[in-house]
Amino acid sequence: MKDLAVIVKPLLEWYEHAARVLPWRNIEPDPYKTLVSEIMLQQTRVETVKPYFNRFMQELPDIRALANAPEEKLLKLWEGLGYYSRVRNLQKTACAVMERFHGELPQDHKQLLSLPGIGDYTAGAIASIAFGQPVPAVDGNVIRVCARLLNDHRAADDPLLKKEIRNALEKIYPSGKCSDFTQSLMELGALICLPGNPRCAECPLLHCCLGYQKNTASILPVKKKKLTKKIEERTLLLFVSPDLCSGLQKRPPKGILAGMWEFPALEKHLTVNELKQYLNDSGIRFSEIKSLGKYKHVFSHLEWHMLGYLIFCTEKNAALTWVDAEGLETSCSLPSAFKKYRKDLQKYLTSGAES
Ligand code: SF4
Repeated sequence: MKDLAVIVKPLLEWYEHAARVLPWRNIEPDPYKTLVSEIMLQQTRVETVKPYFNRFMQELPDIRALANAPEEKLLKLWEGLGYYSRVRNLQKTACAVMERFHGELPQDHKQLLSLPGIGDYTAGAIASIAFGQPVPAVDGNVIRVCARLLNDHRAADDPLLKKEIRNALEKIYPSGKCSDFTQSLMELGALICLPGNPRCAECPLLHCCLGYQKNTASILPVKKKKLTKKIEERTLLLFVSPDLCSGLQKRPPKGILAGMWEFPALEKHLTVNELKQYLNDSGIRFSEIKSLGKYKHVFSHLEWHMLGYLIFCTEKNAALTWVDAEGLETSCSLPSAFKKYRKDLQKYLTSGAES
Protein backbone atom coordinates (compact mmCIF):
# COMPACT_ATOMS: atom_id res chain seq x y z
CA MET A 1 0.00 0.00 0.00
CA LYS A 2 1.19 3.51 -0.87
CA ASP A 3 2.95 5.58 1.79
CA LEU A 4 0.53 7.97 3.51
CA ALA A 5 3.20 10.09 5.23
CA VAL A 6 2.30 13.04 3.01
CA ILE A 7 -1.07 13.51 4.74
CA VAL A 8 0.26 14.04 8.29
CA LYS A 9 1.31 17.70 8.24
CA PRO A 10 -1.62 19.19 6.29
CA LEU A 11 -4.11 17.13 8.24
CA LEU A 12 -2.76 18.25 11.63
CA GLU A 13 -2.62 21.89 10.51
CA TRP A 14 -6.21 21.70 9.31
CA TYR A 15 -7.37 19.99 12.52
CA GLU A 16 -5.86 22.72 14.67
CA HIS A 17 -8.45 25.23 13.46
CA ALA A 18 -11.27 22.95 12.22
CA ALA A 19 -11.74 20.67 15.26
CA ARG A 20 -15.24 20.92 16.70
CA VAL A 21 -15.74 21.61 20.38
CA LEU A 22 -17.23 18.38 21.72
CA PRO A 23 -18.06 17.51 25.33
CA TRP A 24 -15.64 14.57 25.34
CA ARG A 25 -12.76 16.56 23.84
CA ASN A 26 -10.53 18.04 26.53
CA ILE A 27 -7.15 19.70 26.34
CA GLU A 28 -6.03 16.83 28.58
CA PRO A 29 -7.92 13.81 27.16
CA ASP A 30 -9.71 11.73 29.78
CA PRO A 31 -9.60 7.93 29.16
CA TYR A 32 -13.04 7.36 30.74
CA LYS A 33 -14.65 10.05 28.58
CA THR A 34 -12.94 8.65 25.50
CA LEU A 35 -14.21 5.16 26.30
CA VAL A 36 -17.83 6.24 26.90
CA SER A 37 -17.97 8.60 23.91
CA GLU A 38 -16.46 6.06 21.51
CA ILE A 39 -18.98 3.40 22.56
CA MET A 40 -21.88 5.87 22.28
CA LEU A 41 -20.71 7.08 18.86
CA GLN A 42 -20.85 3.59 17.35
CA GLN A 43 -23.72 3.72 14.83
CA THR A 44 -24.95 7.01 16.34
CA ARG A 45 -24.56 10.64 15.19
CA VAL A 46 -22.52 13.16 17.17
CA GLU A 47 -25.48 15.52 17.69
CA THR A 48 -27.59 12.67 19.08
CA VAL A 49 -24.82 11.54 21.41
CA LYS A 50 -24.05 14.95 22.99
CA PRO A 51 -27.00 15.16 25.47
CA TYR A 52 -26.72 11.45 26.31
CA PHE A 53 -23.01 11.84 27.00
CA ASN A 54 -23.51 14.87 29.25
CA ARG A 55 -26.24 13.13 31.24
CA PHE A 56 -24.15 9.95 31.52
CA MET A 57 -21.17 11.89 32.87
CA GLN A 58 -23.33 13.71 35.40
CA GLU A 59 -24.83 10.48 36.72
CA LEU A 60 -21.80 8.20 36.34
CA PRO A 61 -18.71 10.41 36.43
CA ASP A 62 -16.07 7.68 36.65
CA ILE A 63 -15.29 4.00 36.10
CA ARG A 64 -16.24 3.10 39.68
CA ALA A 65 -19.68 4.72 39.41
CA LEU A 66 -20.28 2.93 36.10
CA ALA A 67 -19.20 -0.44 37.52
CA ASN A 68 -21.57 -0.06 40.49
CA ALA A 69 -24.61 1.34 38.61
CA PRO A 70 -27.85 -0.68 38.81
CA GLU A 71 -28.90 -2.11 35.44
CA GLU A 72 -32.20 -0.17 35.37
CA LYS A 73 -30.32 3.12 35.77
CA LEU A 74 -27.90 2.21 32.99
CA LEU A 75 -30.66 1.25 30.58
CA LYS A 76 -32.58 4.43 31.42
CA LEU A 77 -29.50 6.56 30.66
CA TRP A 78 -29.16 4.73 27.34
CA GLU A 79 -32.86 4.78 26.46
CA GLY A 80 -33.29 5.94 22.85
CA LEU A 81 -29.66 5.34 21.80
CA GLY A 82 -30.39 1.74 20.77
CA TYR A 83 -27.98 -1.20 20.55
CA TYR A 84 -28.32 -1.75 24.29
CA SER A 85 -25.65 -4.46 24.37
CA ARG A 86 -23.21 -1.54 24.11
CA VAL A 87 -24.05 -0.20 27.55
CA ARG A 88 -24.04 -3.65 29.12
CA ASN A 89 -20.58 -4.30 27.67
CA LEU A 90 -19.48 -0.87 28.84
CA GLN A 91 -20.36 -1.84 32.39
CA LYS A 92 -18.58 -5.19 32.00
CA THR A 93 -15.50 -3.23 30.89
CA ALA A 94 -15.78 -0.97 33.95
CA CYS A 95 -16.08 -3.99 36.28
CA ALA A 96 -13.03 -5.65 34.68
CA VAL A 97 -11.05 -2.40 35.00
CA MET A 98 -11.96 -2.23 38.71
CA GLU A 99 -10.98 -5.86 39.27
CA ARG A 100 -7.87 -6.14 37.13
CA PHE A 101 -6.47 -2.62 36.78
CA HIS A 102 -7.32 -0.90 40.10
CA GLY A 103 -9.92 1.33 38.47
CA GLU A 104 -7.58 2.82 35.83
CA LEU A 105 -8.00 2.03 32.13
CA PRO A 106 -4.76 0.41 30.92
CA GLN A 107 -2.63 2.28 28.38
CA ASP A 108 -1.41 -0.80 26.59
CA HIS A 109 -3.30 -1.68 23.40
CA LYS A 110 -3.20 -5.45 24.10
CA GLN A 111 -4.49 -4.98 27.64
CA LEU A 112 -7.27 -2.74 26.34
CA LEU A 113 -8.19 -5.45 23.82
CA SER A 114 -8.44 -7.98 26.65
CA LEU A 115 -11.35 -6.04 28.18
CA PRO A 116 -14.89 -7.21 27.35
CA GLY A 117 -16.65 -5.02 24.78
CA ILE A 118 -13.46 -3.34 23.53
CA GLY A 119 -12.52 -4.21 19.96
CA ASP A 120 -9.59 -3.11 17.82
CA TYR A 121 -11.14 0.25 16.91
CA THR A 122 -12.05 1.31 20.47
CA ALA A 123 -8.72 0.07 21.84
CA GLY A 124 -6.94 2.16 19.17
CA ALA A 125 -9.06 5.21 19.94
CA ILE A 126 -8.36 5.03 23.69
CA ALA A 127 -4.64 4.22 23.28
CA SER A 128 -4.04 7.07 20.84
CA ILE A 129 -6.56 9.76 21.88
CA ALA A 130 -6.32 9.35 25.65
CA PHE A 131 -2.78 8.02 26.05
CA GLY A 132 -1.00 9.51 23.03
CA GLN A 133 0.21 6.19 21.63
CA PRO A 134 0.87 5.51 17.92
CA VAL A 135 -2.06 3.12 17.50
CA PRO A 136 -4.56 3.67 14.65
CA ALA A 137 -8.31 3.51 15.20
CA VAL A 138 -9.74 2.27 11.91
CA ASP A 139 -13.51 2.47 11.52
CA GLY A 140 -15.76 2.98 8.49
CA ASN A 141 -14.94 6.71 8.31
CA VAL A 142 -11.20 6.15 8.28
CA ILE A 143 -11.54 3.38 5.69
CA ARG A 144 -13.54 5.74 3.47
CA VAL A 145 -10.96 8.54 3.72
CA CYS A 146 -8.02 6.21 3.07
CA ALA A 147 -9.69 4.25 0.24
CA ARG A 148 -10.28 7.58 -1.51
CA LEU A 149 -6.80 8.93 -0.83
CA LEU A 150 -5.34 5.75 -2.30
CA ASN A 151 -7.98 5.22 -5.01
CA ASP A 152 -8.45 1.70 -3.66
CA HIS A 153 -11.42 -0.11 -5.21
CA ARG A 154 -11.77 -2.97 -2.78
CA ALA A 155 -15.03 -3.39 -0.85
CA ALA A 156 -15.31 -1.37 2.36
CA ASP A 157 -15.73 -4.53 4.43
CA ASP A 158 -12.74 -6.33 2.90
CA PRO A 159 -10.67 -7.34 5.97
CA LEU A 160 -7.43 -7.11 4.00
CA LEU A 161 -8.17 -3.49 3.08
CA LYS A 162 -8.71 -2.65 6.75
CA LYS A 163 -5.54 -4.44 7.79
CA GLU A 164 -3.43 -2.68 5.14
CA ILE A 165 -4.85 0.72 6.08
CA ARG A 166 -4.10 0.02 9.72
CA ASN A 167 -0.51 -0.95 8.91
CA ALA A 168 0.00 2.06 6.63
CA LEU A 169 -1.30 4.45 9.32
CA GLU A 170 0.72 2.84 12.10
CA LYS A 171 3.91 3.73 10.24
CA ILE A 172 3.14 7.43 10.01
CA TYR A 173 1.89 8.32 13.50
CA PRO A 174 3.60 11.59 14.44
CA SER A 175 5.45 11.48 17.73
CA GLY A 176 3.83 13.72 20.36
CA LYS A 177 0.75 14.27 18.17
CA CYS A 178 -0.84 10.82 18.17
CA SER A 179 -4.02 11.99 19.89
CA ASP A 180 -4.58 14.81 17.41
CA PHE A 181 -3.72 12.61 14.44
CA THR A 182 -6.38 10.02 15.27
CA GLN A 183 -8.94 12.74 15.89
CA SER A 184 -7.99 14.66 12.75
CA LEU A 185 -8.64 11.61 10.56
CA MET A 186 -12.01 11.08 12.26
CA GLU A 187 -12.85 14.77 11.91
CA LEU A 188 -11.98 14.83 8.22
CA GLY A 189 -14.32 11.86 7.66
CA ALA A 190 -17.08 13.57 9.64
CA LEU A 191 -16.83 17.09 8.18
CA ILE A 192 -15.16 16.98 4.75
CA CYS A 193 -14.71 13.51 3.27
CA LEU A 194 -18.42 12.77 3.63
CA PRO A 195 -19.94 9.46 2.49
CA GLY A 196 -22.12 10.72 -0.38
CA ASN A 197 -20.63 14.04 -1.46
CA PRO A 198 -17.05 14.66 -0.37
CA ARG A 199 -16.29 18.38 -0.06
CA CYS A 200 -12.98 18.06 -1.91
CA ALA A 201 -12.64 21.80 -2.60
CA GLU A 202 -12.29 22.40 1.17
CA CYS A 203 -10.07 19.38 1.84
CA PRO A 204 -6.51 19.86 3.16
CA LEU A 205 -5.51 16.62 1.37
CA LEU A 206 -6.77 17.57 -2.08
CA HIS A 207 -3.23 17.84 -3.48
CA CYS A 208 -2.36 14.23 -2.60
CA CYS A 209 -5.72 12.48 -3.07
CA LEU A 210 -5.76 9.92 -5.89
CA GLY A 211 -9.53 9.50 -5.64
CA TYR A 212 -9.94 13.22 -6.33
CA GLN A 213 -7.42 13.18 -9.16
CA LYS A 214 -9.06 10.16 -10.84
CA ASN A 215 -12.58 11.47 -10.15
CA THR A 216 -13.56 8.33 -8.29
CA ALA A 217 -13.99 9.78 -4.78
CA SER A 218 -17.80 9.71 -4.75
CA ILE A 219 -17.95 6.00 -5.65
CA LEU A 220 -15.35 4.96 -3.07
CA PRO A 221 -15.15 2.96 -0.99
CA VAL A 222 -16.94 0.27 -2.97
CA LYS A 223 -20.16 -0.56 -1.16
CA LYS A 224 -20.55 -3.68 0.93
CA LYS A 225 -23.01 -6.23 -0.36
CA LYS A 226 -26.40 -5.36 1.13
CA LEU A 227 -27.87 -7.95 3.41
CA THR A 228 -31.58 -8.47 3.01
CA LYS A 229 -33.33 -7.73 6.26
CA LYS A 230 -35.55 -10.28 7.89
CA ILE A 231 -39.09 -9.03 8.45
CA GLU A 232 -41.06 -10.05 11.52
CA GLU A 233 -44.76 -9.24 11.90
CA ARG A 234 -45.80 -8.72 15.51
CA THR A 235 -49.06 -7.88 17.23
CA LEU A 236 -48.41 -5.78 20.34
CA LEU A 237 -50.79 -6.15 23.26
CA LEU A 238 -50.95 -2.90 25.22
CA PHE A 239 -52.92 -3.93 28.29
CA VAL A 240 -54.54 -1.17 30.37
CA SER A 241 -55.87 -2.08 33.84
CA PRO A 242 -58.95 -0.49 35.50
CA ASP A 243 -56.61 1.68 37.64
CA LEU A 244 -54.85 2.89 34.48
CA CYS A 245 -51.63 0.94 34.60
CA SER A 246 -49.87 -0.70 31.66
CA GLY A 247 -48.81 -4.37 31.67
CA LEU A 248 -45.15 -4.93 30.72
CA GLN A 249 -42.80 -7.89 30.63
CA LYS A 250 -39.04 -8.35 30.34
CA ARG A 251 -37.52 -9.66 27.15
CA PRO A 252 -35.37 -12.81 27.33
CA PRO A 253 -31.80 -12.34 28.63
CA LYS A 254 -30.29 -13.18 25.23
CA GLY A 255 -30.97 -11.92 21.71
CA ILE A 256 -32.29 -8.63 20.40
CA LEU A 257 -33.09 -6.01 23.10
CA ALA A 258 -32.06 -8.59 25.71
CA GLY A 259 -33.49 -7.98 29.17
CA MET A 260 -35.35 -4.79 28.17
CA TRP A 261 -38.95 -4.05 29.06
CA GLU A 262 -41.52 -4.62 26.32
CA PHE A 263 -45.20 -4.83 25.62
CA PRO A 264 -46.32 -8.46 25.30
CA ALA A 265 -46.49 -9.50 21.66
CA LEU A 266 -47.76 -12.26 19.41
CA GLU A 267 -46.35 -13.38 16.07
CA LYS A 268 -48.07 -12.19 12.86
CA HIS A 269 -50.71 -9.49 12.54
CA LEU A 270 -53.98 -10.49 14.20
CA THR A 271 -57.38 -9.08 13.27
CA VAL A 272 -59.60 -7.83 16.13
CA ASN A 273 -61.61 -11.05 15.98
CA GLU A 274 -58.49 -13.20 16.07
CA LEU A 275 -57.25 -11.17 19.04
CA LYS A 276 -60.56 -11.56 20.90
CA GLN A 277 -60.35 -15.30 20.29
CA TYR A 278 -56.80 -15.38 21.68
CA LEU A 279 -57.78 -13.38 24.79
CA ASN A 280 -60.81 -15.59 25.45
CA ASP A 281 -58.75 -18.76 24.97
CA SER A 282 -56.12 -17.40 27.40
CA GLY A 283 -58.70 -16.45 30.03
CA ILE A 284 -57.88 -12.74 29.83
CA ARG A 285 -60.98 -10.68 30.65
CA PHE A 286 -61.36 -7.37 28.84
CA SER A 287 -64.01 -4.72 28.22
CA GLU A 288 -62.78 -3.06 25.02
CA ILE A 289 -60.15 -3.26 22.29
CA LYS A 290 -58.85 -0.33 20.21
CA SER A 291 -56.47 -0.57 17.30
CA LEU A 292 -53.48 1.80 17.39
CA GLY A 293 -52.47 0.98 13.82
CA LYS A 294 -49.22 -0.19 12.32
CA TYR A 295 -45.67 0.97 12.91
CA LYS A 296 -42.34 -0.21 11.54
CA HIS A 297 -39.04 -0.27 13.43
CA VAL A 298 -35.84 -1.03 11.55
CA PHE A 299 -32.87 -2.71 13.25
CA SER A 300 -29.55 -3.30 11.48
CA HIS A 301 -30.49 -6.80 10.33
CA LEU A 302 -34.20 -7.01 11.05
CA GLU A 303 -37.47 -5.10 10.65
CA TRP A 304 -40.34 -5.32 13.08
CA HIS A 305 -43.67 -4.61 11.40
CA MET A 306 -45.92 -4.03 14.39
CA LEU A 307 -49.65 -3.73 14.84
CA GLY A 308 -50.69 -2.39 18.23
CA TYR A 309 -53.92 -2.92 20.16
CA LEU A 310 -55.02 -1.25 23.37
CA ILE A 311 -56.77 -3.84 25.49
CA PHE A 312 -58.76 -2.54 28.45
CA CYS A 313 -58.65 -5.41 30.97
CA THR A 314 -61.08 -5.90 33.81
CA GLU A 315 -58.37 -7.35 36.04
CA LYS A 316 -54.58 -7.43 36.21
CA ASN A 317 -52.75 -10.44 34.83
CA ALA A 318 -50.30 -11.48 37.57
CA ALA A 319 -47.72 -12.61 34.98
CA LEU A 320 -47.10 -8.98 33.94
CA THR A 321 -45.50 -6.03 35.71
CA TRP A 322 -47.93 -3.11 35.99
CA VAL A 323 -46.75 0.50 35.86
CA ASP A 324 -48.67 3.78 35.82
CA ALA A 325 -48.07 6.69 33.42
CA GLU A 326 -45.22 8.08 35.51
CA GLY A 327 -43.53 4.68 35.92
CA LEU A 328 -43.68 4.18 32.17
CA GLU A 329 -41.73 7.42 31.71
CA THR A 330 -39.27 7.22 34.56
CA SER A 331 -38.52 3.74 35.81
CA CYS A 332 -38.97 1.34 32.87
CA SER A 333 -36.59 1.66 29.97
CA LEU A 334 -38.64 0.77 26.93
CA PRO A 335 -36.58 0.57 23.73
CA SER A 336 -37.27 3.19 21.06
CA ALA A 337 -38.82 0.43 18.91
CA PHE A 338 -41.95 1.00 21.03
CA LYS A 339 -41.91 4.79 21.14
CA LYS A 340 -45.02 5.31 18.97
CA TYR A 341 -47.10 2.94 21.06
CA ARG A 342 -45.76 4.24 24.35
CA LYS A 343 -46.81 7.76 23.32
CA ASP A 344 -50.27 6.57 22.29
CA LEU A 345 -50.62 4.59 25.48
CA GLN A 346 -49.64 7.54 27.71
CA LYS A 347 -52.71 9.45 26.51
CA TYR A 348 -54.95 6.65 27.75
CA LEU A 349 -53.10 6.17 31.02
CA THR A 350 -53.43 9.84 31.88
CA SER A 351 -57.03 10.35 30.76
CA GLY A 352 -58.72 6.93 30.63
CA ALA A 353 -60.55 4.97 27.97
CA GLU A 354 -62.59 7.97 26.79
CA SER A 355 -59.52 9.54 25.09
S1 SF4 B 1 -9.86 15.28 -1.61
FE1 SF4 B 1 -11.99 14.67 -1.44
S2 SF4 B 1 -11.97 12.45 -1.57
FE2 SF4 B 1 -9.88 13.10 -1.16
S3 SF4 B 1 -9.69 12.95 1.05
FE3 SF4 B 1 -10.28 15.04 0.56
S4 SF4 B 1 -12.53 15.08 0.67
FE4 SF4 B 1 -11.88 12.93 0.60
